[in-house]
Amino acid sequence: MKEATLPRIAITEVPIAGGGSFPVRRVYCVGRNYLDHIREMKEADERDPPFFFQKPRDAVVADGAQVPYPPFTSDFQFEVELVAAIGREGRNIAVSDANSHVWGYAVGIDFTRRDRQRDARDMRLPWEVGKSFDASAPCGAIAKVSDPRHFEHCAIRLSVNGVERQRGDTGQMIWSVAEVIAQLSKQVTLAPGDLIYTGTPSGVGPVVPGDVISAHIDGLPSLAITVVPSESRF
Ligand code: MN
Repeated sequence: MKEATLPRIAITEVPIAGGGSFPVRRVYCVGRNYLDHIREMKEADERDPPFFFQKPRDAVVADGAQVPYPPFTSDFQFEVELVAAIGREGRNIAVSDANSHVWGYAVGIDFTRRDRQRDARDMRLPWEVGKSFDASAPCGAIAKVSDPRHFEHCAIRLSVNGVERQRGDTGQMIWSVAEVIAQLSKQVTLAPGDLIYTGTPSGVGPVVPGDVISAHIDGLPSLAITVVPSESRF
């Protein structure tokens, strides 16, 4: 009897600026990293250490993607974030050594089911249902970076249908990219292909099908995606 053949699982890759592609291994996000966003979310303790959650690797979609409005929410929100792409394995990485583990940077969007995230918080349940779903991690082309210091203080912004909704500066991060890498690498082994979404400034808000979202960080390729109606095929 012939064995059933399972389909191959696609590798998730992100385009590299200038050509080539970056294979994605894992996707991590920082829970909160800008004071003004913590305040707009009315979170409790601004001095809390960062915490991390993951999105599935195939949640990563590229510039130009059509993102289906997800099921199980009526409050689908954007969060523009600086994404660090890891190029060197490490654990217990020192802050002073962390930049050497970064292969490049990109601008990304941490899409969120805000209603489900708030439910989870109120019910003291994991954030996963609010954060980890199909197409929830758009990521622009990754730029190989020669001077990571540039991204310690640079403008980050997002607009919806041409209207600016978020504007911040990566210098407002509570925990720098190097500190984020150091802390995360105490919990897990970081390895080439890992993406770390490093938190969002204030101004997050909901979108609906038809909205065009563009995200920009000075020095990086822009990211634009379109929200489309829910897929009916499932
Ligand atoms: Mn976020």
